[in-house]
Formats: sequence, C-alpha cells, structure tokens
Amino acid sequence: MWLKAYLSFGPNRPLWAVFADALLAQKTPSSENTDPSLRTNTFLQSWNTYRNNKQIPELKELLDTAKKYNLRIEGIAFSREIVRKMPIWNHKEADQKIRLMNHNLASKCLQTKHMVRTVGDTEEIAKTLLEEGHRAQNDCDCQKCVHLKQSVHCAHPHGCMTQATKLLDTLPQKWDPRSELPQDYQSKPRNDEDWKVFDGRITTTGELADIFRLFTDKAITTTGELPKLKPDTNVNGRHLVIDEIIIATDGSCINNGDDNARAGAGVYVEKEHPLNKSAKLPLYLGQSNQTDELTAVKIAAELADK
Ligand SMILES: [Zn+2]
Ligand SMILES: [Zn+2]
Ligand SMILES: [Zn+2]
Repeated sequence: MWLKAYLSFGPNRPLWAVFADALLAQKTPSSENTDPSLRTNTFLQSWNTYRNNKQIPELKELLDTAKKYNLRIEGIAFSREIVRKMPIWNHKEADQKIRLMNHNLASKCLQTKHMVRTVGDTEEIAKTLLEEGHRAQNDCDCQKCVHLKQSVHCAHPHGCMTQATKLLDTLPQKWDPRSELPQDYQSKPRNDEDWKVFDGRITTTGELADIFRLFTDKAITTTGELPKLKPDTNVNGRHLVIDEIIIATDGSCINNGDDNARAGAGVYVEKEHPLNKSAKLPLYLGQSNQTDELTAVKIAAELADK
C-alpha cells in the first residue's frame, strides 16, 4: 500500500512521495552521472539509486518491495495523455542512447530555458518544425521563432526544435505521442439492451500511476511495439468492406466441479447458418463452466475472421 501511494502520480500524490523522490535522486551510486535536476523518478526513468544499505532504510524497504513483487511498467498500449506525461530525460522506455542526449547545447537550452520536462513538453517544441512559414535556420523570423527568442531568450530555436525531434525519435512506437495509437481507431462498443458487447479496447487510460503492474513475469520481456489491431481494409490495392456479424455464444458443463465434469461450447448465428457450430471441449483444456464459455467465444472469433 505504501508503494501504491508512492507511485500514485497525479493530483492526489502524497507530499511524502515527493520528498522520497528527491531523496532517492540524491542517494545515487557514484557511477550515476545524470544531472540531479533531471532525476524525477527512478521508476519512470533509467537512473539508479542505491539499493543497498547506503539507502535510507524506509526507502530501501520501498525499493525492495517493488523488486520482490516484480513491479514494472507494463501494458499493451497507453493513452496519449499518459504517454505525454512521462519524463523525457532518461525516459525509462526510450532507446538507451537518450541518456547521452542530456548535455549538448540544445538539450541544456530545452532544460533550462524552455523548461522541458515531459514528453508532452518535447512534442510541443518539436511540432513547430512543421509549422508553415518556419525556415530551417536559427535566424528564422517566423512567429513561433520570434516568440521563443523573446519569451525564453532562446538563441537557436531551430536547433532546439531539431533536438526535441531527436529526443522523441528515441521513443519506441508505444511511447511516442506522434504514433498512431490504438485509441485513434478503437472505439467504445455501442450500448445494446439485449447484448453485452465485448469491449476490445486495449489502451491503459488514467494517470501515470496506472502504467505499473505488480507480479509481472520477468521471463517475458515487454515490447515497445504496438499490436496491429486496425482492420486492414486495403488488400492488394482493393478496398475491403468490413462486414459485421452477430454471433451468440454459450458454454455448458455437466457435473461442473466434479472429476467427471464434461463441457461443451456452441456458437449460433441464425437457423441453418454455416457458421453454427457445437463442440466438446478436449480434456486437456479442463472441463468447467469457465473454459466452456471461453472456448465458445474463441470458436466464434476464429470462424468470424474467415
Ligand atoms: Zn521559425
Ligand atoms: Zn532553445
Ligand atoms: Zn452461459
């Protein structure tokens, strides 16, 4: 619960957690050479803090708990809102080369004058590159460049915009706000009085706190790629129309819970329809009133996809 409160990024984050971040940022091994002012949070960024007895005991306990229960960032996709809230400097999920990008002139300007801290801040600056009227030169006098020169006294807006783009380029697809994200094409299922429509959306929404998972499997490495869930409507240059089909599914299990339980699954479209199917569950699947329902849905999904 302590760990949960600590990781509850957002408006309700307890004050002690903010202090804990500051302390963890100070208690770092001498090999850790990131700029202390850029260390926001050790779970969101790739800098190290002491995990041994040199750490403050209460904070060591917190780190130990995270380790014991395999806390890590995990999810199939995250909302653009979440992606934008991640710190950009030493971003945990970025290519490791981002760690070498903190010190050049443009990055220093982004840090100290533009006050860039998050992915969202970086995206804002990078966007200007694409603006109409901007020339790829530091003496560009487009509205945006003039504004940056006057408001934050940036001497080389074009250089800073280019560096912001390079920083974003180190982010994998899943963490890049410029990517097409599943939220852009997956919509909320329509409500229906008689049917419980399956909600296939896979985007983690909410606060940064919601990107963490406990009890994760270390043997499985997480990917920075996004799954391809967008129906491919353009096959060999031909535009395909996606048809909708409604299939009823059900499972049934006799002697459920007993050793001699036997389960079956059925899918039904309409009378005499070729996709109507029934099946006995093979014994290796386990025989229960859960496996039967799931098998029915699996059969329906596979048949409908053809
Ligand atoms: Zn310009
Ligand atoms: Zn600048
Ligand atoms: Zn049922």
